[in-house]
Amino acid sequence: MDMPPRVVSTPAGTEPPSALCVEETHIEREGRMDRRTLLAAGTGLAVAAAGAVACDDTADTPAPSNEGGAPRTSPREAAPPATTSASARAGKPRAADWTALGKGLRGGLIRPSDADYAQARQLYNTRFDHQRPAAVAYVAHTSDITECLAFARRHGTPLAIRSGGHSYAGHSGGTDRLVIDVSRLRTIRTGAGTATIGAGAKLIDVYTSLGAHGVTIPAGSCPTVGISGLTLGGGHGVVARAYGLT
Ligand SMILES: Cc1cc2nc3c(=O)[nH]c(=O)nc-3n(C[C@H](O)[C@H](O)[C@H](O)COP(=O)(O)OP(=O)(O)OC[C@H]3O[C@@H](n4cnc5c(N)ncnc54)[C@H](O)[C@@H]3O)c2cc1C
Repeated sequence: MDMPPRVVSTPAGTEPPSALCVEETHIEREGRMDRRTLLAAGTGLAVAAAGAVACDDTADTPAPSNEGGAPRTSPREAAPPATTSASARAGKPRAADWTALGKGLRGGLIRPSDADYAQARQLYNTRFDHQRPAAVAYVAHTSDITECLAFARRHGTPLAIRSGGHSYAGHSGGTDRLVIDVSRLRTIRTGAGTATIGAGAKLIDVYTSLGAHGVTIPAGSCPTVGISGLTLGGGHGVVARAYGLT
C-alpha cells in the first residue's frame, strides 16, 4: 500500500514518539528480559510501574489461565468472515500446494514445520499466542500478494493481513489462516513535499526517515505499530493537537 501522507513540520520541543513507549528494544538495551518473556513471567505490572505510558497496552497481558482447557478462539476465529471467494475449486491445500506457493514467492513462506514458525506466527499481543496460522507469507513484492490471493481463492483458505501486528483483536493472525505479512514492504521514498510509504513500514522508521528532512506526519506514539494498520484505524499521536489524526 502506498499512500501520500500529509507532510508537516515537526513542532519545536515535540517529544520523539519512542520516548513515550517501552518496547522490546528498550528493555533489551537495559540488559533485562524481552517484553514477551516478561509478560510470560507474569510481571507485566513491573513494566507499567517503570514508566510505560503511550504503549502501555492494558490488553497486552497473558490471557487468564484456561485451566488446561482448549485454547480460546477469538470471535473472529469462531466465525471467520468470507475473506476468500466462494468459487474455491481445488479444495484444502495439501503439503505440495504449500510448497509450490513458497517457491512462487519472492519473500519467504513459513510453515508450522519450519524453525522460524514460532516467531513468525506471533502478534504483538501475547493474548493471541494460541493462534496457529497455516502459513505466514513475508511478501516482498506486489506479485507475492497476487500469488497469495490466488492461492487463497483456489483453496478457500482464509486470509489475514499483517503489518505491525498490533491489532487489539488479533485480526492480523488466526488459526488455519494464510497470514500475508507486509513488513518487508517498508520502503520510504521522500520527494518534494510528498512521501510514499510501504505498507509494512513501522512508525519509528517513518518518523526517522521523514525527520531527516525536518518533516513528520500525524501518526501514533508507538514505534513498532505498522503504518497501514494505524492508517486504516485512524491514528492518534503526539502531533495530533496541531495537525489532526493520521
Ligand atoms: C502498544 C500499542 C500502542 C499503540 N499506540 C497507538 C498510538 O499511539 N496511536 C494510535 O492511533 N494507535 C495506537 N495503537 C493502535 C494501533 O494503531 C492499531 O492497533 C493499529 O491498527 C495497529 O496497526 P498494525 O499495522 O501494527 O497492526 P496489524 O495487526 O498488523 O493490523 C491492524 C489491522 O489492519 C489490517 N491491516 C494491516 N495492514 C493492512 C494492509 N496493508 N492492508 C489491509 N489491511 C491491513 C490487519 O489485518 C488488522 O485487521 C497502539 C496499539 C498498541 C498495541
